[in-house]
Amino acid sequence: RCVAASASSSPATAAVATEVPGVMKAWVYDAYGDASVLKLDEAAAVPAVAEDQVLVKVVAAALNPVDAKRRAGKFQATDSPLPTVPGYDVAGVVVKVGSQVKKLKEGDEVYGMISEKPLEGPKQSGSLAEYTAVEEKLLALKPKDLDFAQAASLPLAVQTANEGLERAGLSSGKSVLVLGGAGGVGSLAIQIAKHVYGASKVAATASTKKIELLKSLGADVAIDYTKDNFEELPDKYDVVLDAVGQGDKAVKVVTEGGSVVVLTGAVSPPGFRFVVTSNGAVLEKLNPYLESGKVKPLIDPEGPFAFSQVVEAFSYLETGRATGKVVISPI
Ligand code: NDP
Repeated sequence: RCVAASASSSPATAAVATEVPGVMKAWVYDAYGDASVLKLDEAAAVPAVAEDQVLVKVVAAALNPVDAKRRAGKFQATDSPLPTVPGYDVAGVVVKVGSQVKKLKEGDEVYGMISEKPLEGPKQSGSLAEYTAVEEKLLALKPKDLDFAQAASLPLAVQTANEGLERAGLSSGKSVLVLGGAGGVGSLAIQIAKHVYGASKVAATASTKKIELLKSLGADVAIDYTKDNFEELPDKYDVVLDAVGQGDKAVKVVTEGGSVVVLTGAVSPPGFRFVVTSNGAVLEKLNPYLESGKVKPLIDPEGPFAFSQVVEAFSYLETGRATGKVVISPI
């Protein structure tokens, strides 16, 4: 075991040094494939900390569809080299800071999405591990009154919801339709559209069992896709956020001059697709809404999953039926 940084040899002046081991438990895969490629490594290397990074003792993490798609090899061309410790979303405690770190200090409780561009050279050593190294600028202080599991459920999904609605030009008084309103991104997009952007009308789609949930999240109109085809209903929307992959239908329900932003699948103009960028400043902007409870994290009731159950958690996420976020906690 090695001891981090500044412990003085004199007990009288010794700073409280956080002990960081050289190895850790981490989920790892060394070949692309289905969830069975994931192995629990009991002695993975604790990542080195660059000068602009902090080392986070991971307390909770969350899964996103991108973790599964990356593991399946869908982004091989721009992925980091194998072996991979997956996981983008983290909440935990800072245990070490790089020399150029300005604001964060040891002991800070933080959350964030650990790779700035999730598809372009994402970190090889992700959040499904006891430790992960993250640039300070990608993190924010954990919202007060949220626990680590709740905080870990947010970063990628909440930043996607926010960036999508921002890029689509949502503003006060406009209407919005969220396709996939019960999922990780959609459940937050409904709340953000209403409470951060001041949308006048929020509609969302889900299957029958999740219709009440959509309403409880703030949707004015909840469309049961097992009963109605949203593109055949009379309503048009200033903004459509598509978290399902229905871009061809989404463009049919946008007002003239409105925007259609899709997260997955193909779309033709005026629709467009984007990939989220991680930015701690966005989390800081959203923290007051999270602290006041206007925007609430939604953890899938099947979880949180134990750290030993990461394979099961991936399999569940990959059913495409998750309600809110699939969280791994505690780690
Ligand atoms: P989830 O796994 O959380 O989505 C699951 C939800 O999707 C379920 O609640 C399910 O509800 C709902 N759903 C499935 N089919 C339909 C349908 N036909 N109509 C309405 N709802 C449906 O995924 P995320 O929200 O995390 O991500 C959504 C997509 O966006 C993924 O493809 C992901 O890769 C992508 N994404 C892209 C990003 C980007 O930057 N471009 C960033 C984040 C995500 P039900 O059970 O009722 O069907």
